[in-house]
Amino acid sequence: MGSMQGILVQAWRGLQDAVLPPQCLGCGARVAAVSNLCGDCWGRLNFIDQPFCNRLGTPFETSMGEGVTSARALTDPPVWDRARAAVTFEELARDLVHGLKYYDRLENADLMARMMARAGAGLLSEADIIIPVPLYRWRLWRRRFNQAALLAKRIGSASGVPVLAEILVRGRATATQVGLKAAQRRVNLRKAFAVAPENRSHLAGRRVLLVDDVMTTGSTASAASLALLEAGAEAVDVLVFALVAEPFRTHI
Ligand SMILES: [Zn+2]
Repeated sequence: MGSMQGILVQAWRGLQDAVLPPQCLGCGARVAAVSNLCGDCWGRLNFIDQPFCNRLGTPFETSMGEGVTSARALTDPPVWDRARAAVTFEELARDLVHGLKYYDRLENADLMARMMARAGAGLLSEADIIIPVPLYRWRLWRRRFNQAALLAKRIGSASGVPVLAEILVRGRATATQVGLKAAQRRVNLRKAFAVAPENRSHLAGRRVLLVDDVMTTGSTASAASLALLEAGAEAVDVLVFALVAEPFRTHI
């Protein structure tokens, strides 16, 4: 949030918060606390609760018990250890993400981070450091902030786990993956993220919690996890706000 316009928008919202009663982030109805939802809007979110796959974080349709790994994760194991998401990416969850990403609604990040901290409580209790998925530099310039870094900062201050936002960097923009053979796709994704050699010491032997707003195919999280593991991280878990239930593909 560096631009003058962004600063003014935030100042205006701050002023509104000070004089107006807090509003639901989903529908604008009056609510008791800032950065919150009304009862109806809570009901419009599809929370991911047990039972879900211990590796992929994807919900099971039938009860399998806790700590169970899906057949998909067994035949095609993800690069990371465990992934968790607060909700599925649909309807109001999508609006919250888009509001943050494209309309600078930073108050959405407060709510989303609270929900993520709850969904990822088990991962957070074991994490040594939190690292957000970085944006390409040109995208950061256009958007002025990285939504994953915003979420990571909030989750870090709520949990006390340190956030290292500068360690993982995005490599050069890769051409679309569509139509590429699996081997070429792997090569592309291998170059998608990097850790500078002088930063490797921050990762050595540490359990990293990788944070992003949305997980779609899992290929971004896979590539980022791979870069962190190759740079010396002991293990990587993934925490996102929303999971696109389908399509989900972990091989890269
Ligand atoms: Zn509402």
